[in-house]
Amino acid sequence: MGVMSSYVVLARKWRPRRFEDLIGQEHTVQALRHALEQGRIPHAFLFTGIRGIGKTTLSRLLAMCLNCGTGVTANPCGACDSCRAIVRGEHPDVFEVDAASRTKVEQMRELLDGVAYTPSLSRYKIYILDEVHMLSASSFNALLKTLEEPPTHVKFIFATTEVRKILPTILSRCQRYDLRRLDRDGLARYLAHVLDVEQIAYDQEGLAAISHAADGSVRDALSLLDQAIAHGGGRVDYTHVSGLLGLTDRQAVVALFADLCRGRLLEMLERAAYFHRDGVEPVVLLNDLLDITHQVTRELAVGVGDAAQALSEHEGLKEVWPKLGLEHLQMLYQVLLRGREDLQMARLPRQALEMLLLRAAHLRPVPPLKQLVESLQRQAGVEPGERQASPAVKKFDAPGVGQSEVAPTVHFAPKSAALEAPQAVQAPQVKRAKKQPTVLAPEPQPPVVPPDWPAVPPLQEEPTVVSPTPPATVESWEKLIEAARIKFPLLAQKMESHLSLLSYTGGSGPHDPPCMEVMIAHAFAGEPSKVHKNLMDLLVSLKLPNGVVHIRKSSDGTRPDTEAEKQKKAQDAYQNALTREVADDPLIQEIERRFEAKIIHVEPV
Ligand SMILES: [Zn+2]
Repeated sequence: MGVMSSYVVLARKWRPRRFEDLIGQEHTVQALRHALEQGRIPHAFLFTGIRGIGKTTLSRLLAMCLNCGTGVTANPCGACDSCRAIVRGEHPDVFEVDAASRTKVEQMRELLDGVAYTPSLSRYKIYILDEVHMLSASSFNALLKTLEEPPTHVKFIFATTEVRKILPTILSRCQRYDLRRLDRDGLARYLAHVLDVEQIAYDQEGLAAISHAADGSVRDALSLLDQAIAHGGGRVDYTHVSGLLGLTDRQAVVALFADLCRGRLLEMLERAAYFHRDGVEPVVLLNDLLDITHQVTRELAVGVGDAAQALSEHEGLKEVWPKLGLEHLQMLYQVLLRGREDLQMARLPRQALEMLLLRAAHLRPVPPLKQLVESLQRQAGVEPGERQASPAVKKFDAPGVGQSEVAPTVHFAPKSAALEAPQAVQAPQVKRAKKQPTVLAPEPQPPVVPPDWPAVPPLQEEPTVVSPTPPATVESWEKLIEAARIKFPLLAQKMESHLSLLSYTGGSGPHDPPCMEVMIAHAFAGEPSKVHKNLMDLLVSLKLPNGVVHIRKSSDGTRPDTEAEKQKKAQDAYQNALTREVADDPLIQEIERRFEAKIIHVEPV
């Protein structure tokens, strides 16, 4: 039996002859029945819905109801002359017109000329206009005139896939029925019913693939089913259906999806290459991935009716399933969907697909953060929200750090090299009470640049004119540096970084001028005589011209630390203590474990 003859047989056999045979349109059928039984029959009906949903079938069925020899009925006999003529498409009073092929106004006028004459065989002259939205504006107007004052023996049945294109003046004169698109499960169940009755073997995956491809259209589904029966030698199974539809190997797509979710880049690319060798177009593979993502998301959100078809039970997905999250999947779907546009623009679609897959693989399953933090806290033996930081680390008072309360910020670096690129899933920063560690995980762009600390004032030219100031008290080298910072910022930096202090006395006032012994620590300080002059200028500007400055050069290379070096050491010690405290924190340790992260930097906030 050939494909076409098989199709004709099944399609004819399963064309609905009664309202109850229509599947998935119960609400429309009920309303129509009601109208027919009550005798409230409008001049014009309008059926809307996608192609292949049953608009034409319903139109013919309605024509039978209106013209049946047994009288106007919701249950036409199917045996009288009128009913049989309609089934054969030969009824002299029933006109089926494809509006798409007769859009011209002359054709419409010719058709409507016949409206005036009474029917020859049955009760009504019935005009079935398919794709009525295709009519030209003048044709619509001609039709409208007839609709305004139709003879009682005339009924119109309009059908359209695009109801928005129909003039409101036409719409207002029709009783409208919207036919629903069939969902995949409903369609698959219907196909299973047909095959059960026909006693044809099938598998669920094959039917699911057909109903998916039919996209809600019963006619397409039945047509595909007929072809699948012929293709599979009297049996409907996934292998033959996928061959027929040019589908990808679903198992392999699921495996690719799993690799993508787990960030197994090499396996993922190898699978993609396998599809390419198999002749699968990149866009087809991408569509299948989108489809799997959608199904997984749906299943995760609301579950599935049929456990046998659950993706969570799928061998390739079992392992990664517990780690999947709705937010991650939404993000993944968005990335893949946007990537489809890129694919169409790309000179090498296969290359674009690889780039897209690599990009998508960086989206890693991240459980909802609030939930994660709470579970971490419980594991660390702390009630959520009750945590207090230990006072082990004392505040470090450094110039440039104005905060009186110091809490550490932790930056994590992922261990996996695959994660070093910027993350599309970025956990929001968790802010809690002060002195709590602030967790940024995973950090978008490690490594983190160390903070500018201590703060360096902007470089300025030394002022040439020194305005008079009251005598200062500079009882220490540090205070002298602070005093210099205002008027001689460059000198202050030099004192801090390039000079080591050997001794310092006096400086309590004009009668106790300071006496200092300073060693050149770096060549950057300049000639000793120049340094001496600079420091003396400083003392003069501070109204302490009697101060004494001795400059030494190190003979054996040893010298005390400069102020900058002392600060650096103190800062390092503080940083180490801070890092130790954070690293020892059980909560932080748990975060490191869960995110496969390591601490690269701790800084106070
Ligand atoms: Zn009949």
